[in-house]
Amino acid sequence: MSRGKLIVMSAVSGAGKPTLQGRVLKKFPNLQYSVSATTRAPRPGEIDGVHYHFLTRDEFRKMIDEDGLVEWMEVHNNFYGTPKKFLEEKLEEGKDLLLDLDVFGKLNFDKIYPEGIGIFVTVPDMATLEKRLRARGTNTEEDLRLRLKNAEEELSTAKSRGKYEHWLVNDDLDRADAELTRIIAEATGREPIGG
Ligand code: 5GP
Repeated sequence: MSRGKLIVMSAVSGAGKPTLQGRVLKKFPNLQYSVSATTRAPRPGEIDGVHYHFLTRDEFRKMIDEDGLVEWMEVHNNFYGTPKKFLEEKLEEGKDLLLDLDVFGKLNFDKIYPEGIGIFVTVPDMATLEKRLRARGTNTEEDLRLRLKNAEEELSTAKSRGKYEHWLVNDDLDRADAELTRIIAEATGREPIGG
């Protein structure tokens, strides 16, 4: 059996990456989501082992010490990392994997798995991003400024140092979904089900 393929998605916060991921995971049965470990608290509706493996800082540190993570990174004051065992087992089984990594985590990931296909999800412009973040209504002005500043930094790092074969502008969800579906079909050599 041939090894599975690696698809890595990064995005600026507010670009709609989780929605797009949810959609394509339904269309490619051989594509599995690599569930990251994190020290951040679960948000309402998030399930341990499905969205993340929610760990304490001590448990996370133990995974680092035991060399259990492919890469890890501190993002917005919390730790996030990719468990190594699950990834390797699934690739060996021939499963394709979808990963969600921040731009800096992806740089480290590339040192170990340079064959991974990178997709960067972005918005048409910064004004659109600001509008979307405001529409969510959950951010304070200070938090909003921080997220916009981080977005600009991530975007410029992704452009200058990142390895992203595909740039996906999420201007319209259905259009972006269709484009992402095409990219994944090409990268994995598999046909989507259900359109
Ligand atoms: P959130 O807390 O909104 O779910 O995720 C925050 C950020 O952490 C996002 O940019 C996401 O891509 C990133 N992230 C999630 N899992 C991992 C991981 O395993 N490794 C790295 N480096 N970043 C991750």
